[in-house]
Amino acid sequence: MPRLSEAMTAYRPVLAANPYQPLPAHIVRIHRMVPDNHLFTLRFADDRQATEFRHRPGQFIMLSVPGAGEAPISISSSPTRPQVLELCVRRTGRVTDALYRLRSTDVVGIRGPYGNGFPVEELAGNDLLLVAGGLGMAPLRSLLWYALDSRDHYGSITLMYGGRTPADMLFRDELVSLADRPDLTCLLSVDRDPDGGWPQQICRLPELFERVRLQPATTYAAICGPPIVYRLVLKRLLALGFSKDRILMSLERRMKCGIGMCGHCSVGYRYTCLHGPIFTYWDAINLPELV
Ligand SMILES: Cc1cc2nc3c(=O)[nH]c(=O)nc-3n(C[C@H](O)[C@H](O)[C@H](O)COP(=O)(O)OP(=O)(O)OC[C@H]3O[C@@H](n4cnc5c(N)ncnc54)[C@H](O)[C@@H]3O)c2cc1C
Repeated sequence: MPRLSEAMTAYRPVLAANPYQPLPAHIVRIHRMVPDNHLFTLRFADDRQATEFRHRPGQFIMLSVPGAGEAPISISSSPTRPQVLELCVRRTGRVTDALYRLRSTDVVGIRGPYGNGFPVEELAGNDLLLVAGGLGMAPLRSLLWYALDSRDHYGSITLMYGGRTPADMLFRDELVSLADRPDLTCLLSVDRDPDGGWPQQICRLPELFERVRLQPATTYAAICGPPIVYRLVLKRLLALGFSKDRILMSLERRMKCGIGMCGHCSVGYRYTCLHGPIFTYWDAINLPELV
């Protein structure tokens, strides 16, 4: 088994002594990025907890909204920018509906961080390729800023992010402004540009591969997006010669407890809340139910 998979399961910090006990956090800011896709900035009510909280890019928290329940949500902010947590939440059901009814200063609950996250130490010294479609940018944004804030630790960094139209692009202004950075290849695509004026590519996300030269032997690829993105991007990566343990995928399964107790997210002998949500493609093909 590749060494990478071992490293990915070894880091599992838990914040609270009782892992089922959420800690109170205030909503500091609600940024309405896209209808039904808001960025919530949270800060623990207790200053010590705000300072001590540590996570890895790719980890998630269990977010609880009083009276509604809990849902796993990826941490979109980088651990290099501590004190607050940013969560990009799509309104889909009971918990997220209730969250959207809250306002700044209201209180929510946080448990975590959970999951393995991206093995950032193992990735150091390599080139990085981040490929996200739609809401897949939520966990990859944490990795992107982590790598940019630790720029000397990585070789070239390439981001490919696709949305349907400019109006659907999450973190649009932030990512468009990154396009000028000389130390990042930032390729953003939309399928259609109904209003005109989109400054970047108008094409399907996988077509962005035709605009870069990648070095598969020294590059780690991190992918997150809807199933079609995995299917088409994996095809490209394998055709380019990426080895299966150099492809990292964030795979979200329905989960309840987040700590490997309830069994809701088990796949074969693995729990996606403990051993995931980041898996290598090697893991994915050896756990057939995973994808
Ligand atoms: C590791 C991880 C990270 C995640 N990160 C994010 C993130 O950063 N941002 C984000 O917005 N979401 C994220 N999600 C997804 C989020 O947790 C779910 O969308 C969650 O269901 C929202 O809770 P809810 O109560 O609002 O919606 P729910 O009431 O759970 O409903 C959500 C949708 O799922 C359907 N559904 C409900 N129960 C089931 C079931 N048992 N089987 C199949 N379908 C069902 C509902 O019909 C509805 O369409 C993440 C999930 C995981 C596992």
